[in-house]
Amino acid sequence: MLRQLETPNLLSPITVLPGIGPKRAGLLETQMGIKTLGQLLHLVPRRYLAPGRHLDINELSTADGELVRISGTVTRTWVRGFGRRAVVSVEVEDESGKCVLPWFNQPYLKNAFPPGRELTAEGTVSLKRGVQLQSPHLIDLNVIVPPLTPIYPQADGIPSHFLAKAIAATRELLGAVDDPLPVAILESAQVPELNQALQYLHAPETTEQTEAGRRRLAWAEILRLELRRQRARRERSGVERGPEMAESAIPDQEVWDRIFARIPFVLTAEQQSVLAILREEMASTQPMARLLHGEVGSGKTVIAFALALSEAAAGRQTALLAPTEILARQHLATFCQWLEGSQVQVAGFFGDDRPAERRLAVRSIAAGTAHIAIGTHALFGDDIHFARLGLVVFDEQHRFGVRQKAKLLTKGTNPQVLTMTATPIPRTMAWAQYGALDPCELRSRPGTGGEITTEVSTMDKFHAWAEKVRPQLESGQRCFVVAPHIDGEDGLLEIAARLGSTEWQGLELAVVSGRMPGAEVAAAVERFRRGQIHALLGTTVVEVGLDIAAIPLMAVVNAQRFGLASLHQLRGRLARGPKASSGKCILFGSDDSHHRLELLAACRDGFAVAAADLAERGPGALKGLRQHGRSDFHLFDPLLDHDLVDCLKLSEVRTWLLQLD
Ligand code: ADP
Ligand code: MG
Repeated sequence: MLRQLETPNLLSPITVLPGIGPKRAGLLETQMGIKTLGQLLHLVPRRYLAPGRHLDINELSTADGELVRISGTVTRTWVRGFGRRAVVSVEVEDESGKCVLPWFNQPYLKNAFPPGRELTAEGTVSLKRGVQLQSPHLIDLNVIVPPLTPIYPQADGIPSHFLAKAIAATRELLGAVDDPLPVAILESAQVPELNQALQYLHAPETTEQTEAGRRRLAWAEILRLELRRQRARRERSGVERGPEMAESAIPDQEVWDRIFARIPFVLTAEQQSVLAILREEMASTQPMARLLHGEVGSGKTVIAFALALSEAAAGRQTALLAPTEILARQHLATFCQWLEGSQVQVAGFFGDDRPAERRLAVRSIAAGTAHIAIGTHALFGDDIHFARLGLVVFDEQHRFGVRQKAKLLTKGTNPQVLTMTATPIPRTMAWAQYGALDPCELRSRPGTGGEITTEVSTMDKFHAWAEKVRPQLESGQRCFVVAPHIDGEDGLLEIAARLGSTEWQGLELAVVSGRMPGAEVAAAVERFRRGQIHALLGTTVVEVGLDIAAIPLMAVVNAQRFGLASLHQLRGRLARGPKASSGKCILFGSDDSHHRLELLAACRDGFAVAAADLAERGPGALKGLRQHGRSDFHLFDPLLDHDLVDCLKLSEVRTWLLQLD
């Protein structure tokens, strides 16, 4: 089609294509940003249509809804309705049976199907009114049809097949498409060159080809994001983390021995090997961006503690971010306890700090007299400047926004970043969301003495259960009760009121929710920790990270409202600490949730729960990537592209990325 034109090239406007005037060109530009032929070639099909299976007509009765082909002879033709409402029905027969092909809105076809005409047609089987082939079109068996027909994204005012034709015409120019990626980088990821990839995407012969084409474009997206991250890190620092700094930064074994001496237990082999990996990485010239996946109760806090101390030994500061005030205060208490009598100073930052307190903390961080800052969002404050921020640790990161996190990083010169989470995610997502290429894992739970069992029950049994456990509570055992919301029927407040006036009347109960000031929640949790309260009733403020020793009981009401990963986090609050005996978590759910909750009850491995949770949330979980401001993924698929992300680790790829900077 293009041959008749004056040598169009990739930069020619799309109006050189026959049938594209200023109007359609305008539509393509505003809706898809396409102005040139080169850009048109980058429009990737949404999906592909495979040709229908060729069936005998009597086989159609078992193919409802399927795209199929039939061949046969016209037996009769009739018309109903007039004008735009006209339906031309064509009855076709083969040796096995008969079916009808309805053609809507094309009354002139009436004479096109005289009895006796042989034809092959493709359409979608419908069994609603006899056996029909809907939206039929004729297939010319002499024309070789492509095995896969690309279906392009729809633009208003431009039919998909029209785009297909335009792109087919432009394909002649593919030879002129140069690949911006060097051959070595393409070979590292084993993807085809760009023009080959586009050829595969627009005119594939097999699904392997469409996949190869997609991977080439996905690889470019991955490289682009990695490069952008690298540049952002560079800009943040202004200077590279020089080798001199790194060398002086490696604390020697003596320092590490002193750090270990402060920890009131022996690290497990798993914890030690994670620490060894992180130590090595922190000593390298590239700033660390690591994700630590640790099963609930696997002892992540101590990793953060040890690294913070090693930074302090090297004269640098650490910021430890926790998503809730309870958790931040708990970390603060743990760090202070382990650091008793040490020179290392810790400052806390919380939302409701008194101004004088806060000024003091801000000053100690700015002057560098405090080595470790622990806090909630309050740490993001504009008034906070670190003297020498070396390490940022995000604990249970999923509650922080990407922008907030980036802001904290600007408070230091290229700090190391460790993200700790009990919610495992696929490695590809870890990279896409946190830039973390190699998550480390902690799977065992050294801090727990007791087993946790989970039982599933129904909401109507909740109060009978409360009555049953009353003697246990009276004898000094403590209990969590968790509700998904505060108000309404079976909400936290209603349940608390009812328990307080009936089954648990006279027992000490405390209610905590995200609506209360952080200090009040912390005070209630503290009283619970000390054993002054029988039961702590709360929303998910108790979900993440709460570390109170030896609680044996938890009831979750309306458990069906929680995601599986959340429920796993919740039950992880039980039976903690070396002296704990067993823990029991009862999930009170709606009848229809029984099966799903039973699955959780039967599964203790947090990594398996996370996989089930991801599967349950389905594509929505992947969409999270976009919400995190990464709209630059179109073809990258976290479920398929593990190996591509792994390619980022290849030395030739690293070297190439660095030299682009
Ligand atoms: P999480 O990974 O869920 O954040 P924590 O860091 O809160 O887990 O640790 C859970 C509990 O286990 C804490 O009380 C902690 O002191 C304890 N713990 C961690 N590591 C060990 C260990 N190696 N030996 C004994 N107890 C440990
Ligand atoms: Mg934790």
